[in-house]
Amino acid sequence: MQTKMLINGELVAGDGEKLSVVNPSDGGEIAQVAEASQEQLGAATAAASEAFETFSRTTPGERAALLLAVADAIETNQDELAELESLDVGKPWPSARDDEMPLTIDTYRFMAGAARTMSGSATGEYVEGHTSMIRKDPVGPVASIAPWNYPLMMAAWKIAAPIAAGCTMVLKPSEITPLSTLRLAEILNDILPKGVFNVVHGRGASIGDTLINDPKMEAISITGSPATGMAAMRAASQQIRHVHLELGGKAPVIVFDDADVDAVAETIRYGSFFNAGQDCAQPTRVMVQAGLYDKLVAAVSDQVGQIKIGAPRAEGAEMGPIVSEVQRERVAGFVERARAAAEITVGGAQGAGDGFFYQPTVVANVDNDAEIATSEVFGPVVTLSRFTDAEEALKLANASHYGLASSVWTKDLSTGMQMTSRLRYGMTWVNTHGMPTAEMPWAAMKGSGTGSDMSVYALDAYTSVRHVMIAH
Ligand code: NAD
Repeated sequence: MQTKMLINGELVAGDGEKLSVVNPSDGGEIAQVAEASQEQLGAATAAASEAFETFSRTTPGERAALLLAVADAIETNQDELAELESLDVGKPWPSARDDEMPLTIDTYRFMAGAARTMSGSATGEYVEGHTSMIRKDPVGPVASIAPWNYPLMMAAWKIAAPIAAGCTMVLKPSEITPLSTLRLAEILNDILPKGVFNVVHGRGASIGDTLINDPKMEAISITGSPATGMAAMRAASQQIRHVHLELGGKAPVIVFDDADVDAVAETIRYGSFFNAGQDCAQPTRVMVQAGLYDKLVAAVSDQVGQIKIGAPRAEGAEMGPIVSEVQRERVAGFVERARAAAEITVGGAQGAGDGFFYQPTVVANVDNDAEIATSEVFGPVVTLSRFTDAEEALKLANASHYGLASSVWTKDLSTGMQMTSRLRYGMTWVNTHGMPTAEMPWAAMKGSGTGSDMSVYALDAYTSVRHVMIAH
């Protein structure tokens, strides 16, 4: 198993403390991976800084060719990468391979094309005798931090856009799920020029914190919890750095009386419990108009009660374990605190075995301002609560601290359009939820972050707008 980091074109074992990588399906140790020492981290940031001098001057066509080669290499190795992902995060094998790999690979292919669309605008004579032009240039070496829920997909979002823009980077995957990213580093080392892409291993409070505070890193890109986003903003404020944040979410699912009950219940079954509910955009806070409430609780409970949980390779397993014991305790805590004031119609307890399983859980009759309805649980739990009309639904949804994903369910196009125009979320789906595509932004607002991943808008995080003026 590849457990070395990638620093300046070399695969090197960490000189720091060895960290255990645990199998969430049985609690056993898969491997030990040594953290980077502070010297090794310094070597990685120096390599990214030095490589920026040449890589930032490559043409978009050259960078597109590299990204296409990366996509091909991942495709060639996708079974092995998906196997590592499924082992390390506990994902059912079909999800890791067939649901996640296509978008992961397509992210690189899309960005290969996007690299070649970058252009300045508005060349003209705004002062007599002077011609102005706009350039969009790479922002600089990027400190990138990724979470544990989709290590390969999040790495794709963290790698493809900055490479397309002409940036170099040091990427730190989550210390609890580093395996697929370390193997990816080995594969990419045969393709990307030395120093352009570096991977270090280590914990957030030590290696992550030093990385985002390193003066050689000119931008910080984080996908993670709000607490880590705040740490990045504090680090950026010390040196004035660009910050790109994709943080947590609590997606409202606003279901009107005229909605298709079966479609909502099926979407909840698949969408809310995919990846054991560990997804920032998942439909988790179901808000139901009073006339449909009882019917929807019954339909959702029926669907969720059928979900089969099991280890990644277990026949028919739809949902795997939670990534760690710590995270399972956190999820269980939310459910226990909600229990007295709500009704648990399905689940609400740990799963069997040594792994970190937690039953798919439906919590009904939840107050709209209850902790479990407003905080990100990040586990296999959905809540159902009531609203009376569109104005109330909008008020409740927009009061959220978060602003990532949302959806509206209605057969009335006029209601749907009015809701989409007034919901303050980076993404709103109508009669579906969570459908991603590389061409469209994964967009964050409010407490969920700044800017977008995917789409041409992702390039904004990694480019600076410049004005060049020529006197003549
Ligand atoms: P986390 O913030 O605990 O960890 C994420 C990464 O940040 C890890 O690599 C960790 O080591 C690092 N980190 C932690 N503290 C740090 C610090 N002080 N300085 C630098 N790095 C630090 O998050 P997690 O538990 O791994 O992931 C779950 C969170 O990620 C959830 O809140 C989820 O919503 C969010 N998420 C958001 C998106 C999105 O696109 N918006 C996607 C996936 C996950």
